[in-house]
Amino acid sequence: RSLEQVLTDGIRDIPDYPQAGVVFKDITPLLADHTGFGQVVEALAAAGTDDDGQPIVDKVVGIEARGFILAAPVALALGAGFVPVRKKGKLPAATYEESYALEYGEATIEVHQDAFAPGDRVLVIDDVLATGGTVEACLRLIRRCGAEVLGTAVLLELSFLPGRKRLQGEAVTALVTV
Ligand code: 5GP
Repeated sequence: RSLEQVLTDGIRDIPDYPQAGVVFKDITPLLADHTGFGQVVEALAAAGTDDDGQPIVDKVVGIEARGFILAAPVALALGAGFVPVRKKGKLPAATYEESYALEYGEATIEVHQDAFAPGDRVLVIDDVLATGGTVEACLRLIRRCGAEVLGTAVLLELSFLPGRKRLQGEAVTALVTV
C-alpha cells in the first residue's frame, strides 16, 4: 500500500469530540496497523536525514501524549535519543516551561533542563498540527535548552487552521494535509 493509502485507511473522523462542533482526527486505527505504522515511522524519520538518507539528528522530541508513540520509534530508526515534552507537573527533575493560549484558557508544557547537550540537533514529532501553538511552545523550550531545531514532522496537518503560518520560517513536514 502507498503511504497515502495507509494514512487514508488509518485516520478516522470522530465528530463532536472533545466538544460539540469539533471533528477529531483519530489515529488509533493507524497505530493498530503494523505495516502501516512502520511505513509512517519511516516517513517521519526521513525528516531527520540528509539528501543521502543519512541521519542528522541527535535527539527526537515527542510531545505528550500521541507524539510519544510516534517519536520513540522514529528516534530508534535515526539512531538518536528520545526526549519527552510533557504537560506541566509530570517531569520529575528541574524543568523549563512555556505556556500558550488555547481556545479557552492556557496550556503549559515542560522539558527537563538537562535533556539536551549544547548544540544537539533536534527533530520534533507530533501527531497533528492544528493551530500550531503546541509546536511553537515546544520549539521555544528546545531553544531555551541551547539545542538546535532541525525541523518538525507531523502525521497530519489541518490546513483550515493557521498552524503553518504561525510556524513561518520553521521547517515543517506533514505526511498528509487535509
Ligand atoms: P495545536 O496546538 O496545533 O492547536 O494542537 C495540536 C495538539 O493538539 C497536538 O498535540 C495534537 O495531538 C492535538 N490535536 C488537536 N486536534 C487534534 C485532532 O483532531 N486529532 C488528534 N489526534 N490530535 C489533535
